[in-house]
Parts: sequence; structure tokens; C-alpha cells
Amino acid sequence: MVRKQHNASLKGYNSFGIDTTADLLVEWESVADLVEFLHTEGKALFGGQWDILGSGCNTLLTGPYRGTLLHSVAKGISIVSDTPEGVLIRAEAGHTWDDVVAWSCAQGLWGIENLSAIPSSVGASAVQNIGAYGVEAKDCIESVEVLHVDTLTVGLIKGSDCAFGYRESIFKSALKGKVIITAVNYLLSRTPAPKLGYGSLQEEVAKLGEITPQAIRQAITTIRNGKLPDPEVVGNAGSFFKNPILPRTQVEALKAEHPTMPIYEVEGRPECLKIATGWMIDSLGWKGRSLGRAGVHDKQALVLVNLGGAEGCEVVALAERICKEVKNKFGVDISPEVNIL
Ligand SMILES: Cc1cc2nc3c(=O)[nH]c(=O)nc-3n(C[C@H](O)[C@H](O)[C@H](O)COP(=O)(O)OP(=O)(O)OC[C@H]3O[C@@H](n4cnc5c(N)ncnc54)[C@H](O)[C@@H]3O)c2cc1C
Repeated sequence: MVRKQHNASLKGYNSFGIDTTADLLVEWESVADLVEFLHTEGKALFGGQWDILGSGCNTLLTGPYRGTLLHSVAKGISIVSDTPEGVLIRAEAGHTWDDVVAWSCAQGLWGIENLSAIPSSVGASAVQNIGAYGVEAKDCIESVEVLHVDTLTVGLIKGSDCAFGYRESIFKSALKGKVIITAVNYLLSRTPAPKLGYGSLQEEVAKLGEITPQAIRQAITTIRNGKLPDPEVVGNAGSFFKNPILPRTQVEALKAEHPTMPIYEVEGRPECLKIATGWMIDSLGWKGRSLGRAGVHDKQALVLVNLGGAEGCEVVALAERICKEVKNKFGVDISPEVNIL
């Protein structure tokens, strides 16, 4: 079934809790429904302003959306194949990511347990290449099922062809506006492969006894709940900015000037280093401060929050102010991880 809502409220569709509307919101339950709908209405829809909204946890709405937002409510997880080489699972784009992780951990499967408690739809897990605790979605994405908007034909893109990078993928670049992700296939494993080398994860898991995907999921959920604001309580979209990846020489010069600045190696790019935007924002004294009804979270400076009733433009004003101050003090351009609509 396809559901169309004109002048739709988006308040429940974005984790910042911005109270705004879309001219049209179209929700679909299956690819067949979507294709049928687009055969009749696609031409008009794609001829105008349109976009895709997942669960809106990485999107900042800056005002009424003057166009059509497409939103998958297709649900379902299944095992495609189960062999000694791995267990291939398939999830529909509209399925809640964390339910996929919970399901996979309950089956004793390894691979995505470190990505527990990330608020996301399955579709966006591939778009954003979500990552946490030393794991990224790309490590398990075998392929992505898409609908090509120009031909309304379905296609399969191999994970190795998705140009995955740090919160980047082909769906944010070459295929932006060209495909709609309809499902994602993840290759998991029954062979234990715990990844515990990040932060306090090892200690937290040790408290739980046997190391299982379930235990890692529980430990990560506990750590995250202690650190990050719950969007149900305080509107936010997780990390608002990306951590810049810069030439090693530039980072070494910054480190010499600011010896406590944390720096990280970047996998596969020895000529570069990553620096922590949260640390720079914190050192500017922004943690816990606000501008209008938008603020910087008091425990994590990378997270901008809606202090209550903020409009998207207030969050943008705060973000712009922070970018300017970071540039002035550190000479570094920071950019949003969040999609601004
Ligand atoms: C409290 C909190 C903690 C967070 N922690 C993390 C973290 O640890 N790691 C991390 O990586 N992120 C984190 N995030 C950010 C967020 O969870 C991810 O970016 C997530 O993938 C967003 O999913 P979504 O479905 O809400 O995407 P949306 O914000 O709805 O969309 C994101 C992008 O994906 C596109 N898109 C969505 N669905 C489709 C589709 N079916 N086809 C094509 N394009 C599509 C949208 O057009 C948009 O460009 C956090 C967010 C919050 C609120």
C-alpha cells in the first residue's frame, strides 16, 4: 500500500523534533507498491522537488519542505543463505536498524553488534555508512537493492561498488537522486569475531561474563545511553559535524600547537590523520552553551540539541557560529554530518 499525506506534519519524522511540514509525504510498504505508484505519479513527482526521508535521525529540517518526501515503511528481515562462509541476511529499507541488530544478536550472528543503538533505518545504514566502536556498516554490507528512478527498474549494487568512506557512500554522491534504496543485504558470521578495542568496551563487556554478540550489544547500549542524549527527550541528530581528515603535516602542526588535541590514524590513508571536532568545539567553551533555542550537549560537544521548540534555522545559526570559531582558532573547515533539508 502507498499512503499519501498532503501538508504532512514532520514532527514525528525527525530526531531533532523540529515541528514543520512537507507539502506531500508518500509512504510505501513494498517495492511493488512503490513502482506501481511511480508509474502513474513518478513523472510529476520527479519533475519537482523531492527527497527521501528515512527515520530522520540525521536530517535537519530548516522549514516547510516544499515538495515530496518519500519514506519507506517496508519492514522485514530474512536469512537469504546460511553457509560455513557466512550468513547472508536481507532487511527492507524501512526496517528499524536497531531491530535488525537485536535480531542478528539473538541469532548469535557476528558482524553488526558494535553498531547497536544507532537510530537509523536500514536504507540509511548504507547511505551514511553508519559507524561506531571500530565497525562500519560497509564491513558487512554485501549488496544494496535499489530502484532506479529514471527507469523504475530494480537493481543490485555490490557493497564493493558503493564507494563507502567515513559517513560517505555512492548514494550521497554519484547516485544521489538517482536511486531509492529498497533493501540491504548484510553478510554476517557464526564464527566469533569480537571487536572490543574501542574505548571502555572491553571493560564493560567483561562485567557481563561470556563474550557473545548479545553481551557486546548490551555493553554498547549501556555506554551509549550514558553518553548521548535520547532524541525522545532532547532533540538531536547525534554527531552534528564530521571529524576532518587532513594531511598528516597539517595535523602534526596543529598537534604541536595544541598538544592535547586527539588525533587518529585513518584506515588505508597513511598520508592523512583525523582530528576530533568535538575536542575543538569543547576547547572553545561551547559545551553546554546555547544560541537561541539550540545548544551544544553538555556531555558531548559534537552533538547539537534542540532545547525546546527550536526551528531548524536556529540550529543552523548555531552550527555556522561554531564553524566560524573553529576556523578562526584552528584554521580548520568543519562540515556537517547531518543532512540539511
Ligand atoms: C542519538 C543519536 C546517535 C547517533 N549515533 C550515531 C553513530 O554512532 N554512528 C553513526 O554513524 N551515526 C549516528 N547517528 C546518526 C544517524 O543515526 C545515522 O546517520 C542514521 O543512518 C540516520 O538514519 P535515518 O534513517 O534516520 O536517516 P535520515 O536522516 O532519514 O536520512 C539520512 C540520509 O539517507 C537518505 N536515505 C534515507 N533512506 C533512504 C533510502 N531508502 N534510499 C536512499 N536514500 C535514503 C536520506 O535522503 C538522507 O540523505 C546518531 C543519531 C542520533 C540521533
